[in-house]
Amino acid sequence: MPSSPAARQALLERIDAAARGAGHGSAHLLAVSKTQPAEAVRALAAQGQRAFGENYVQEALAKQRELADLTLEWHLIGPLQSNKCREVALHFDWLQSLDRAKLIAPLAQHRPAGREPLNVLIQVNIDDEASKSGCKPDEIAALAARIVTEPALRLRGLMAIPAPAPDAETRRAAFAHMRELFDALRVEHPAIDTLSMGMSDDFELAIAEGANLVRIGTALFGARPMTRASR
Ligand SMILES: *Cc1c(COP(=O)(O)O)cnc(C)c1O
Repeated sequence: MPSSPAARQALLERIDAAARGAGHGSAHLLAVSKTQPAEAVRALAAQGQRAFGENYVQEALAKQRELADLTLEWHLIGPLQSNKCREVALHFDWLQSLDRAKLIAPLAQHRPAGREPLNVLIQVNIDDEASKSGCKPDEIAALAARIVTEPALRLRGLMAIPAPAPDAETRRAAFAHMRELFDALRVEHPAIDTLSMGMSDDFELAIAEGANLVRIGTALFGARPMTRASR
């Protein structure tokens, strides 16, 4: 199902309503285009969508080449292996999945001089013991302190993918915990401004708990082709 202008518009209205309800102005929409063809990105860009999220570096680079005539903002939201830091520093505007210190130096080293710093979110493993992605909450402060020593990187905030919980209250608690971690980090780093959480199934709940960047794939593009794991 290709995304229609009406689908994006309806989504933007739901995001706005949730942000107004939460009393915090606005929340931004990141269109998650993993597994979607470049033409689907182009169609959404024609509707005014500028920020796109990808999980796999190689897939993203191929799409970026096809869409080189457009000015888009690319976010890496999938796990980052150290041997891909160079590509990310060269070809992305945001990295939402920084979760360990060893990525920081290679990212900074490969960010081209004269380009805007790479915007960075620290990914937090908020409740999913089994997941290998994301740092522990008590590792956030040290990672943040290290990131801000690099002028080529700009710390913008936190990102999380709570485990799919069967009930809304468990999810709400994970989002609320992220909000507390974000507020605590902002005491030390007042410039941070982005809390990325919430996907197609739970973005309104995430916004109610303080998200101001939601990452949405299915509700925007329709179901993903089943060629890859979806998470
Ligand atoms: C796939 C993915 C999304 C989007 O998920 P939907 O349920 O399709 O909206 C958001 N964030 C991350 C990190 C993802 O991998």
